[in-house]
Amino acid sequence: MSRGILLYAELTRYGEDGQYIHPVFFELAAKANELSQKLDNAPIYALLIGQNGLVENFKEGFIRNNIGTVYVVEDDQLKDYSTEYYSKIAVDVVKELEPEIFIIGATTQGRDLAPRISSALGTGLTADCIDLDINDKGQLAATRPTFGGQLMATILCKNSPQMATVRPKVFKPMKEFVENDTKFVNKKADIDNVEKKVQLIDFLKNPEKEESSLEDAEIIVAGGRGMKDLMGFELLKEFASLLNAKVGASRVAVEMGLASHEMQIGQTGKTVTPKIYIACGISGALQHTVGMSGSDKIIAINTDKNAPIFDIADIAIVGDVFEILPELIEKIKQNKN
Ligand SMILES: Cc1cc2nc3c(=O)[nH]c(=O)nc-3n(C[C@H](O)[C@H](O)[C@H](O)COP(=O)(O)OP(=O)(O)OC[C@H]3O[C@@H](n4cnc5c(N)ncnc54)[C@H](O)[C@@H]3O)c2cc1C
Repeated sequence: MSRGILLYAELTRYGEDGQYIHPVFFELAAKANELSQKLDNAPIYALLIGQNGLVENFKEGFIRNNIGTVYVVEDDQLKDYSTEYYSKIAVDVVKELEPEIFIIGATTQGRDLAPRISSALGTGLTADCIDLDINDKGQLAATRPTFGGQLMATILCKNSPQMATVRPKVFKPMKEFVENDTKFVNKKADIDNVEKKVQLIDFLKNPEKEESSLEDAEIIVAGGRGMKDLMGFELLKEFASLLNAKVGASRVAVEMGLASHEMQIGQTGKTVTPKIYIACGISGALQHTVGMSGSDKIIAINTDKNAPIFDIADIAIVGDVFEILPELIEKIKQNKN
């Protein structure tokens, strides 16, 4: 019997509304359910760290995502994330539970926390994965881009637990919930002797981020070098607004100053999984497609019929964006009328 899969249930802040469990946890939970089946129904655990009384608000999410046991570490000193406190607690739980696999979301918090835990435990960490599987030896096979995104490497870890971080939006949450008779186990935070080196003063909103919120968009219209200039991007924005879509960009478009970094999609930008992704003048380099290939439907417009983006497109439109987009805009306007 496998020793199980532990997931980190990150608590994150959302405006003034207080805290919520980061959506990446539910994406990891869906994947963990798949991995568990390949490990003879290995138990799935979650670790939740936060202030006193917190778990009451979140029980339902664990129960409906088939989590067997949630280790809850509540203490008012844990209200806000602290690298030192949280990593000490996670290490203590792992030492006691000895899970075979430990998966954390590659969020700002997860990227800070995971390496500290893995180095304290003397185990390996495959960071920023885009896929996870179990190989025929029952090991975690963690895939991530390597050599500047030229290759996909599947990495195995010799030590235990096998650790990985996974970007938000790489996996989809469960479509249908699988309920469990989830156990909630309270653990005491043994942090009295831990020196907290960083003091949190305040949270400031990133206005640019809120404006774009690409990750939540149902439709994304993205532009690349083929959009040529700012006028080209204006055309893209007009098209996007008619579709109630968000605008994304390739890295080249960002480097050309046509879009902000917040709008960049791909290996060094955002990972998105909208219902419809419309790529305009984007060639489809691997570093771009790792960030959008999980979209439900991909439509690509490109003058080059051999552009790699067409290999993953559901609808391929070979043609000039400056002819096709104005035509589409006209048609949508007519239909709206
Ligand atoms: C370490 C590393 C990380 C990277 N991270 C990212 C990342 O996160 N995101 C990302 O996007 N890239 C990333 N890149 C860059 C990536 O390798 C590509 O260079 C980039 O995605 C190409 O952008 P593009 O498709 O806009 O430009 P190009 O590859 O130049 O493609 C432009 C396309 O537009 C088409 N076109 C031209 N004119 C028209 C027209 N009038 N109508 C229709 N089509 C037209 C052309 O046929 C061409 O296919 C990264 C690279 C490295 C090395």
